[in-house]
Amino acid sequence: MAIVTHMKCACESCLCVIAVEDAIKKNGKSYCSEECAEGHPQGVGCGHSGCEC
Ligand SMILES: [Zn+2]
Ligand SMILES: [Zn+2]
Repeated sequence: MAIVTHMKCACESCLCVIAVEDAIKKNGKSYCSEECAEGHPQGVGCGHSGCEC
């Protein structure tokens, strides 16, 4: 009986919904990827299909 909670990536322009257990945690927020967690320092998006961040 697994409790899987999904939430949206904390990145403003990110549309990804991620499982909390798979999220990249940073500053108390959960992100879909390292890029989002770092605020896109390289200007690269998370690479997930359909996501425009
Ligand atoms: Zn994303
Ligand atoms: Zn992002």
